[in-house]
Amino acid sequence: MATLSHDATLAIAADLNAAAAGVIARETACRLLRAGDEALPLLLEAAQRLRAQFKPGVVTYSRKVFIPLTNLCRDYCGYCTFRRDPGQPGAHTMTPDEVMQVVRAGERMGCTEALFSLGEKPELLFPEMRDTLRRLGHKSTLGYLEAICEKVLRESSLLPHPNPGLMSAEWIERLSRVAPSLGLMLETTSERLLQKGAAHDNAPDKEPAKRLRAIEEAGRQGVPFTTGILIGIGETIEERVDSLLAIRDLHQKYGHIQEVIIQNFRAKHGTPMARWQEPDRSDLLRTLAVARLLMPQMNLQAPPNLSDPHYPDLLDGGINDWGGVSPLTPDYINPEKPWPHIQELQQQTEAKGFQLRQRLPVYPEFVARAALHGGLLAERLGAAADPAGYVRRAA
Ligand code: SF4
Repeated sequence: MATLSHDATLAIAADLNAAAAGVIARETACRLLRAGDEALPLLLEAAQRLRAQFKPGVVTYSRKVFIPLTNLCRDYCGYCTFRRDPGQPGAHTMTPDEVMQVVRAGERMGCTEALFSLGEKPELLFPEMRDTLRRLGHKSTLGYLEAICEKVLRESSLLPHPNPGLMSAEWIERLSRVAPSLGLMLETTSERLLQKGAAHDNAPDKEPAKRLRAIEEAGRQGVPFTTGILIGIGETIEERVDSLLAIRDLHQKYGHIQEVIIQNFRAKHGTPMARWQEPDRSDLLRTLAVARLLMPQMNLQAPPNLSDPHYPDLLDGGINDWGGVSPLTPDYINPEKPWPHIQELQQQTEAKGFQLRQRLPVYPEFVARAALHGGLLAERLGAAADPAGYVRRAA
C-alpha cells in the first residue's frame, strides 16, 4: 500500500477534523470519497469515532420474512432480476393464503417483521394484473397491499414494513395506519441515469424528483421512513454525495428518516448491467464512512449478504444496523446472495466488539411515533416492543 505524503495526510486530517466538528461540506465529502486506499484507515477511524459517540455499543437487525407480494412491475431497471412481465416464468402475485403461510412460519421462527417488497404499480401496464386484482377484490396493488398488511396485523404478531415503490400522500397515510414504518429507496438523485442505456432508462418511477417528493411527504406526515442509496449504478461521486445530502436535508427538516441504507450494486446475469463494474470493498467502505460523517446521529445500514463473506468489515465503515435478515425466506431481490445465519451474524458482530440486538421494523426511537394512529397498530406495537423500543421477546 502506498503511503500518504505529509501534505496529503494533513489535508485529509483537516477534512476529518472539520467533519468531526460537524461541518462537512459537499466538496469535502467528495474529496474524501476520492481519496485513495492509503487514506482509508484515517477515514474509517473518523467514522468509528462518530459511531462510538452517537450509536455506541449496539448493532441492530430485524428478524424478518421477505414477502414478494407481486413481482410484476411496470419499470425496467437495468440491474433488476426480480421483476417479471405477466406470462414470464416465475411471474407471480401471492394470494392472501400464501402470504399468511409465510407469516405463520416466520412467527414460529421468532420473526417480527413482514417485509413486503413488490413491483411498481403493475396494473397500470398489464391488464393481467388488473384481472388478478379484480379476482382478489381490489382495484390497485397498493389497495391489495393495504388489506394484506391489515390481515397480518390482525392475525399474527408480525409487523408489516411495506416497500412498494412510489406512494402518493394518500397511500402514505393509509399504509402508515397498518404498518409502523414504510420504505422507499431514493437510490440516486442523478437525473442522468434516466437517459437511454443508463440504469433507470425505462423506469419512470425512478425519477429522483418523484422519489424525493414521496420521502418528503412521509416527513410531512411524520411517518417513520427507511430510505437509502444504491451505489455503483453509474452515478458520479458528486451525485452520490448529493443523494446522501438530499436524505440528510429531508431528515433535518422532518426528523422522520429512521435509517439510511447504503446498498452496493451487484451485477446480475441476464440483466442489461450484467457486465457492469461492481463497487469494490474500498469504495463501499469509503461511502459508508462518508455517510457516517455526513449524518453522524442517524442509523446507517448496509446489507450483509451483498458483501458476504467480508461483511463484518462493513462495521469498520461506521454502520450500526444490518437491516432485515431472514432465517426463513431468501432475499428475492438478490436470490443468489443468501443472508448469513443469524448465529454467525451475532458471532461476527460480537467479534468486532458490539452487541447484536433484534429490533422491530420500526427503530426503537420511532416506536412511539408509529403508535400515534392508535388502533390495532398501536396495540400490536405495545405487545411487540419492550420499554426501550426493542423486540420484547427476542428470538
Ligand atoms: S428494481 Fe424495483 S422498480 Fe426497478 S424493475 Fe425491479 S422491481 Fe421494478
